[in-house]
Amino acid sequence: ESENSKQENVLKIVLIGASGVGKTSIVERFAKNIFNEQQRKTIGSTFLSKVCVVDEKPYYLNVWDTAGEERFHSLVKLYYRDTNIAILCFDLTKETSFRELDHWYQELQTSAPRNVILLICGNKKDLEEQREIEDIEIEEWVSKRNCIYLETSAKDGTNVNSLFENACQLFSEKF
Ligand code: GDP
Ligand code: MG
Repeated sequence: ESENSKQENVLKIVLIGASGVGKTSIVERFAKNIFNEQQRKTIGSTFLSKVCVVDEKPYYLNVWDTAGEERFHSLVKLYYRDTNIAILCFDLTKETSFRELDHWYQELQTSAPRNVILLICGNKKDLEEQREIEDIEIEEWVSKRNCIYLETSAKDGTNVNSLFENACQLFSEKF
């Protein structure tokens, strides 16, 4: 496996989190640099590919985006298979999506590879005045699980590239 140097830098990234938090929008901002105010509901799962260069090294990212709905959960093991990086997303303006992090974290523990790299993403940062979750609560959740946390806006693009660059960086440090 490691004999193929190109293969080594092909990373599977999955985005997970409640429906409506902006997973599809984040992937589209990252891969196509677009934003759609009326993003359509994702059916099943899809992936987009993009090269990300970190420290002059290219990473070939296959970014998987899924619908957050329970009815797709029968495919869960298949979805997580060979995942290198998981980005767990919530909506900064929707407290319930933050509460759901535990559920997704649990699912990762049972269904994703053990060495998966985990990042937490609080999206819709542009809607500052509608924030529903205290910083301290987020800090607690994140530090307890020793994860990297970033706040993004798929709408204005804040931190979206950084999210994926951080992911690649963490991967290169670990492997
Ligand atoms: P998903 O179900 O997690 O894939 O969420 P979507 O990407 O479909 O986004 C749900 C809704 O939130 C859509 O109307 C998006 O336009 C909107 N949205 C996504 N990201 C942002 C963001 O960063 N800021 C704002 N203001 N709206 C966003
Ligand atoms: Mg979606």
